[in-house]
Amino acid sequence: MEPWEFQMKVRLFLMVIFSLSVSTIRSLTRQLKEQLKIKKKGRFSAASIQLSRRGCFVLVALGNDIKVIENAHHVNIKPDFERYYKTNGQTLLKTFEDWEPGRVISCAACGRQWGMEMVYKEIALLPILAIENFAMETPEGRKLAKKWKDVEFTVEEFNFTTYCNNKFPGMFD
Ligand SMILES: [Zn+2]
Repeated sequence: MEPWEFQMKVRLFLMVIFSLSVSTIRSLTRQLKEQLKIKKKGRFSAASIQLSRRGCFVLVALGNDIKVIENAHHVNIKPDFERYYKTNGQTLLKTFEDWEPGRVISCAACGRQWGMEMVYKEIALLPILAIENFAMETPEGRKLAKKWKDVEFTVEEFNFTTYCNNKFPGMFD
């Protein structure tokens, strides 16, 4: 083997080793992050979380009253939740595939803005809540989160049929 040939082979070998280790590290990091995320989401059961108004600290819902729609919109399905908020003004005049935005909602007591209503499939009027406006009472004390992705319990997916059955009993009988 010529010396230049040998050098080239060594270089090629090093390149392969290097790119392999980078991709291994990347995939390990990704797996670890995913595991941490799952662990974090499972720290508390949704039913053990109490959401209280940030500002006036009155309990308004439990973690399992919150459901997620299209992996993005966190709505509160608690039947009597309307009494905790007031509405004012229309938000966007826009229609999405399954829903359209409704009015702005804010705390009935102190007026702090909470989020907005969503009209889902023209039937369900659901309040979308921004978690930054609430405090969470967990088994390990009060916690705050800026984004829903940071909460330490699993938010279940919204089920339209279940919702309708609870809200309008007998509708599908
Ligand atoms: Zn308030």
